[in-house]
Amino acid sequence: MFDYQVSKREFQNWLIKMQEEYEVWAPVKVGKNYTWGSWDGGSFPDEDYQNTLKPPKDLFFPQYEVLLKYKKVKGKRPLIIEPDLPQEKRIIWEVRPCDARSLTILDRVFINKDYEDPYYSHRRKNTVVISLVCQKPGLGCFCKDPLTTEGSDLMLLDCGDTYLVKLVSVKGKGLIKNPVFTADKPINIPMELPANPFNLEIADKDLAEKLEVIYRSPLWRELQEKCVNCGVCTFLCPTCHCFDLTDDQKGKKVRSWDSCMFASFTKQASGHNPRPTGAERLRQRVMHKFRYFFENHGIFACVGCGRCVEKCPVNLDIREVLQRIKEVQ
Ligand code: SF4
Ligand code: SF4
Repeated sequence: MFDYQVSKREFQNWLIKMQEEYEVWAPVKVGKNYTWGSWDGGSFPDEDYQNTLKPPKDLFFPQYEVLLKYKKVKGKRPLIIEPDLPQEKRIIWEVRPCDARSLTILDRVFINKDYEDPYYSHRRKNTVVISLVCQKPGLGCFCKDPLTTEGSDLMLLDCGDTYLVKLVSVKGKGLIKNPVFTADKPINIPMELPANPFNLEIADKDLAEKLEVIYRSPLWRELQEKCVNCGVCTFLCPTCHCFDLTDDQKGKKVRSWDSCMFASFTKQASGHNPRPTGAERLRQRVMHKFRYFFENHGIFACVGCGRCVEKCPVNLDIREVLQRIKEVQ
């Protein structure tokens, strides 16, 4: 059910008003691709908008981030300077539902009972996520539920000149106090999309169970033959979250994305590498997403966004990998 119907013009005016208090981020076309950028207050993505090349992960967990700075002080302990925590209030809108859902996967990693990452957590709390329902799948899409509201604060459905608006979270409801939305009475509009055009559920409980028994299968070597270990699949993945910590020459402790597909990812100071070939690295990527994460959190760490499918330079398609795994006797 949706709660309100609003014309795109009214919605635009409302967002412009919101810009007085919030940074508004939206998909911005650069060349042929969409990327996340500051909304100019006027434009809406073209009809060809499928999704952004990079997921919104970078807005919460940046690819490169200074965690602290330190200075040597003669005769004393080094002076530690922690950067201010991010305070900007932001709205990101036209997030695809799979990417909104991916944030709930990152939440489990960065905000949990044992640990809360203050940088991630502040950005998450200060950001309102407005998702836009997909009405046709992209080439690589295989999400389970294109209407999922997980991770969204508000959800929109494009109906031509109007949007249907669903209030999802308390944060989203709190935002809709503007007369644009309250002028009309809330309406209950049944969500009636045609049959789910995606409907490609590859990852299921059977898969997680199968992964338990094929750890040493020769299939991994066969599957990785094509892989060039470029790491594109992990860097473009909205749920991949491995990072490295390094000290730069200027007294900064830096966190930057890393990838389990890189040969150096597990290389130890002794020179030993427990994942010496691409077969172990591909296995790790699949195991982490579809077995270990499932065991720890009860869900897969993949939302079926299809970026790794579309952008892998050698067409190593995760959907085919999963299918092959399921077929192993
Ligand atoms: S994008 Fe393709 S080639 Fe690159 S690491 Fe991933 S699977 Fe391998
Ligand atoms: S594994 Fe591929 S399809 Fe799944 S969330 Fe990551 S990039 Fe998207």
